[in-house]
Amino acid sequence: MTAEEQIQALLSNQRAYFLKGYTRSVQGRYDQLGKLRLAIKEKERAIMDALNKDLNKSEFEAYSTEIGILLEEISFSQKNLKKWAAPKKVKTAMTHIGTTGKIVPEPFGTALIIAPWNYPFQLAISPLVGAIAAGNTAILKPSEFAPNVSKLLKNLVEEIFPAELVAVVEGGIETNQLLLAEKFDTIFFTGSVPVGKIVMEAASKHLTPVTLELGGKSPCIIHKDADLKLSAKRIAFGKFTNAGQTCIAPDYLLVHSDVKKEFLSLLQAEITEMFSENPLLNENYSRMISEKHFNRLTEFFSDGKAILGGTADRDSLKIAPTILDEVKADAAVMQEEIFGPILPVMEYADLDEAITFIQVRPKPLALYLFTSSKQTEQQVIEQVSFGGGCINDTLMHIATPHLPFGGVGESGMGNYHGKYSFEAFSHYKSVLHQTTKFDFSFRYPNAKNGLKLIRR
Ligand code: NAD
Repeated sequence: MTAEEQIQALLSNQRAYFLKGYTRSVQGRYDQLGKLRLAIKEKERAIMDALNKDLNKSEFEAYSTEIGILLEEISFSQKNLKKWAAPKKVKTAMTHIGTTGKIVPEPFGTALIIAPWNYPFQLAISPLVGAIAAGNTAILKPSEFAPNVSKLLKNLVEEIFPAELVAVVEGGIETNQLLLAEKFDTIFFTGSVPVGKIVMEAASKHLTPVTLELGGKSPCIIHKDADLKLSAKRIAFGKFTNAGQTCIAPDYLLVHSDVKKEFLSLLQAEITEMFSENPLLNENYSRMISEKHFNRLTEFFSDGKAILGGTADRDSLKIAPTILDEVKADAAVMQEEIFGPILPVMEYADLDEAITFIQVRPKPLALYLFTSSKQTEQQVIEQVSFGGGCINDTLMHIATPHLPFGGVGESGMGNYHGKYSFEAFSHYKSVLHQTTKFDFSFRYPNAKNGLKLIRR
């Protein structure tokens, strides 16, 4: 069989499995999630090893940003599944006397999940949790740039799920193109904006609904009334976790000119404290995923004055945490998502200026604001559109199942996590139940009896 025929056979088996109703039982979904949770726990060591091989991720990062977060997500889904999957009665309209209404969640059917390389385990499994919870079958396509995690995902899924329910198809762009040519019932894509457009275009041929979890340049505003030391610590953590290869990492700083000097010196101190004087030799510091990314990123060094870092080691593909000052708005580093450990700094004198700077650019996936003023917080939330974010912190909004996670505009469409993952993979079917005990003649054409109630 050709690769295309294999994919078609797999999808056709999944469709048949779905149509036979095997994914309908809520208890069955709960049990599948339990199997997944157990397998992740049992394979914790192997997952950490694979993440280390692909990205040099430390055990701390592997657990806190990939494994632990997933175990929580699965438990949360299991705990709430019955409630989410239950049909919900709704009120009826005055004009609909005699009826009852309910909303019945139903799985879309066959789901395609395409994952990126930066959190290659978490970003493959997290949407899968939603797909299974909502009662879909799924084909998962991991990123070819994290080959060790891709292989591990394939083995893990094969061990615990029948291929008719969940299957992993490994491969690169060509494999993805073959998958995207097929008719799925929903597609969940995490990756870059350009590929997101390709996915949406392919989905439009079948009118397949899509969830697009994309990227972009996420601003981080440090206002003059912020707690500067704590802000520096939280920004250092958010920017340099996974060496900046995080979709919601602060991409660039907008610092109030009154506090810029003090803030930057605190930021340098925090980065050094977290990643040591010589981060290139720090075993727990992630590397760039590929030479291509390494080259793209080191080119940015010349876009400003490196007041920290600005060094890199080609052999290990590591780039030191770098703060770039004196960056112009039209510099290359300010035109595309950085996705690496380079942090350009811009300054502003007036908050409106900072807000306008963000408003005229594509809507970001995340926004971070550091301030002690409720009024400033309110102003930014009201005036700036962004996917999600934090006040006085970075990244943490992604790690709670109570907040929907996703982008807006160019940074994506749809959202997930917790209940929102269940919703992302569900259709909400509206059902109106009409009484047969009576009828109103006036609702029919040529009614002669006005408002007459016809008893039956
Ligand atoms: P990518 O878009 O290059 O790749 C994502 C997936 O698409 C991979 O599985 C890849 O095989 C496939 N792909 C790549 N090129 C393709 C093509 N031409 N046609 C069809 N399929 C193709 O993204 P990436 O480099 O893996 O990840 C980095 C990007 O992902 C960044 O922009 C980042 O912000 C974004 N991201 C977003 C989130 C989020 O949750 N919103 C999370 C992580 C990463």
